[in-house]
Amino acid sequence: MFDLIAFDADDTLWHNETLYSKTQDKFKQLLSNYQSAEWIEQALYEREMRNLQYFGYGIKGFALSMIETAIELTQGRISGAEIQEIINFARDMLKAPVQLLEHAEEVIARLSQTYDLMIITKGDLFDQETKISRSGLADYFTHFEIVSDKTRDTYEALVARYDIDLGRFLMVGNSLRSDILPIVAIGGQAVYIPFHITWAHETVTNQDEEQLGYFELEHIGLLPALVDRLSNRGDATGSSQQ
Ligand SMILES: [Mg+2]
Repeated sequence: MFDLIAFDADDTLWHNETLYSKTQDKFKQLLSNYQSAEWIEQALYEREMRNLQYFGYGIKGFALSMIETAIELTQGRISGAEIQEIINFARDMLKAPVQLLEHAEEVIARLSQTYDLMIITKGDLFDQETKISRSGLADYFTHFEIVSDKTRDTYEALVARYDIDLGRFLMVGNSLRSDILPIVAIGGQAVYIPFHITWAHETVTNQDEEQLGYFELEHIGLLPALVDRLSNRGDATGSSQQ
């Protein structure tokens, strides 16, 4: 049985990467007179990686990286109007409707009847707060944590602050690096749900689960069945956890 199930938000509960890739397409179009699409994409990615330590995750940092890339790739010839257009791209992203992933709402509603639910997401505080409220899912969650990064230290701090029993805690997310591996490293249980998946398998076998240290699902609609299975397994073996 679990006391608390935590969810990543972007690309776990709602679409996010799609918005970034659409904006990148517009950005490449804007600069198409100056450089090839591949060159722009590579330069933007490198700029984002360099800027992460200064501006953090989120749309505002992305916008600054687009502007800087545009200045670099045009050797300073980018116009004020074009920079304004980049800022408008970012504003459009911040205003874009929150598009829930298929099954997300029914799964969250169902699990919230039995478990305390938490959102752990990283990025701009303001952007994430408004997305949570616009998602229509906020009422199902008991706790919200918007953090600047999701490392082992981040999770250890949350475990201490909420007095979480890791044996009765489950983390669900689409990023191995941010949502799954740090949790496994501190002895927690995690469910990895890749965002884009071209092949289908539901859950791995018990033996593989042991080896991987986490579970993998094709989509969030399969989560309640896995949670039921894990809860029953805990009831069968877990009296010592009390
Ligand atoms: Mg995510």
